Amino acid sequence: MADITVANLHKRFDRFVAVKNSTFTINDGEFFVLLGPSGCGKTTTLRMIAGLELPTSGQIKIEGDDVSFLRASQRDIAFVFQMFALYPHMNVRQNISFPLKCQGVARAEIKERVAEVADILRIEHLLDSPVGGLSSGDKQRVSLGRAIIRKPQAFLMDEPLGALDSEFRHLMCSELKELHNRMGATTVYVTHDQLEAMSMADKIMVMNHSVIEQVGAPQFIYDFPNTIFVAKFLGEPSMNIIEFEGSVAQGADSVCINSIKIAVARIVEGVQTKKLALGVRPEHVSLVEFSHLKGMIDAVEYLGTTQVLTINSMIGKLKARVDSHIDVERGQQVYLQLNPEHTSVFDRETDQVIMNTRYEEAYHAQA
Ligand code: ATP
Repeated sequence: MADITVANLHKRFDRFVAVKNSTFTINDGEFFVLLGPSGCGKTTTLRMIAGLELPTSGQIKIEGDDVSFLRASQRDIAFVFQMFALYPHMNVRQNISFPLKCQGVARAEIKERVAEVADILRIEHLLDSPVGGLSSGDKQRVSLGRAIIRKPQAFLMDEPLGALDSEFRHLMCSELKELHNRMGATTVYVTHDQLEAMSMADKIMVMNHSVIEQVGAPQFIYDFPNTIFVAKFLGEPSMNIIEFEGSVAQGADSVCINSIKIAVARIVEGVQTKKLALGVRPEHVSLVEFSHLKGMIDAVEYLGTTQVLTINSMIGKLKARVDSHIDVERGQQVYLQLNPEHTSVFDRETDQVIMNTRYEEAYHAQA
């Protein structure tokens, strides 16, 4: 398996920039997810790593070798598509063994490796079946089998579960992750589904409008979003973003919104801008007996173990995720507390987070 390093990767289609100066590293054996909304440049990035698209400029190295302008067939990687791309006139065994046949591998070895892959994917019983009658999940397993059998340096997957219904998707997510854990193969995986990304990735790279917003472990970017975009893109419901005008000086441990003082994690560097935003995830907004921050419940959404409350508060609309056993109803007045250790203050002019002591510690711990 291999590590993949990408430096200043740039792709233009005529005047349109699809990928802008991307620099990142995928470590050997990592499950690396490219996440972002439609059109942000995920697939183009993946296709350039695969050699299916050539970069306008920049460099891609696989295991130290510069492959930036090599054709796909000259790179030792396997691609798994959403639409399976199986050969309909071949059965499962023939589909899986096809890449080895093309490489001229001996019959006995092909037989052995097909058996090995079928065992990994638990599809031994399907080997002699035609692919036409298979379920979507089994078709995707066969498609994975055809990729695995080559023992490539890396697997590249473009929304491979996109064609499956949600229940099956969930099952295949766990299967893929388990498969990855067993094989330890470097995998680059494209999705626009944040839950899929969070549940499978070792590392997520969030993209938006052709640029990288943030790269990090799922928990890290969930807890410490670099930008307002990442804060809103991850989480269901997403982070509360309360826009306000004011200032934050170095060392400040509170902000003032609509004359209400809100405690925040201690700011490391002050900023000049007056356009700010306070971010706090719904699970860090709690109901308390008394505080200076009051609100009125506008909606209650029951979700089993928790409930999400929409609250019109003195600093703006807030969502709170609280235990579903707490007895609340629409129209009720409540007092709120935001956990200062889990707040983020953003500069709305740059869209970037303003560094606080918790972020700083976490960045150093991750580095
Ligand atoms: P999706 O999830 O919808 O596939 P994505 O993040 O994977 O989105 P890309 O497919 O990488 O996005 O496309 C990024 C942008 O580049 C899009 O606006 C797309 O229209 C454009 N684009 C992609 N391929 C081409 C091409 N061959 N010619 C012109 N524009 C292209």
